[in-house]
Amino acid sequence: MNLILLGPPGAGKGTQAQRLERAHGLVQLSTGDMLRAAVAAGSEVGKRAKAVMEAGQLVSDDIVVGIIADRIAQDDCKGGFILDGFPRTVAQAEALDTMLAERGMKLDKVIDMQVDDDILVERVSGRYTCAKCNAGYHDKFQQPKVAGVCDICGGTEFKRRADDNAETVRSRLGAFHAQTAPLLPYYGARGVLGTVDGMAPIDEVTRQIEAELGFAAA
Ligand code: ADP
Ligand code: ADP
Ligand code: ZN
Repeated sequence: MNLILLGPPGAGKGTQAQRLERAHGLVQLSTGDMLRAAVAAGSEVGKRAKAVMEAGQLVSDDIVVGIIADRIAQDDCKGGFILDGFPRTVAQAEALDTMLAERGMKLDKVIDMQVDDDILVERVSGRYTCAKCNAGYHDKFQQPKVAGVCDICGGTEFKRRADDNAETVRSRLGAFHAQTAPLLPYYGARGVLGTVDGMAPIDEVTRQIEAELGFAAA
């Protein structure tokens, strides 16, 4: 099964993608994670993306389409993948259609994670991740079971993103409404769109997504 998680910054895309990856063996493809890795590595792509990401704007379609085209060609994607943070523009969605058609792959579902704008700044400002395995946490909403220790890998170092501040979030939210929201009618017209309440508690959101995907309730 190949799916897209669609939603504004802080909607819970990464959180739910990691859960689906663990529970159902689908591979999480996060363009944000891939771009941050490129920035950290100082690659050509990283150099082109860094300032744009820091400003909370969208990296060019060419760059992200290239990254995703390389990634979905890899073997581990054959068993199904979850796109997290891609596509973010209609041009990216069209490029995705083309690359899937070329590979005989198809898109099974697009999940629209609906969250009101006014809670997103708090979601994003309190976000942090395990430095070792990238598991996501929140100061208030998703604390590790043992303080300071990652639930998944036992790691004790955590990190926060440079762009997770109130000012940048507002600019990212603007980009979402202007450039990404038009994907809702784009996918709605094809009958692949499902909606979940991203304001619900994390477990409940997972349940709603699994119901949309036709996975039996655990
Ligand atoms: P996205 O990938 O869409 O930007 P994340 O999955 O990183 O969003 O979630 C943003 C922050 O909000 C994280 O710190 C996460 O722990 C927290 N979070 C995710 N889903 C929920 C939820 N349903 N309720 C409360 N907090 C959540
Ligand atoms: P969030 O989890 O808050 O939605 P991401 O980690 O997905 O944020 O993305 C972080 C930043 O990386 C974005 O603000 C943007 O600059 C860049 N980025 C990620 N995915 C894309 C994409 N598909 N198109 C353009 N820019 C992207
Ligand atoms: Zn960890």
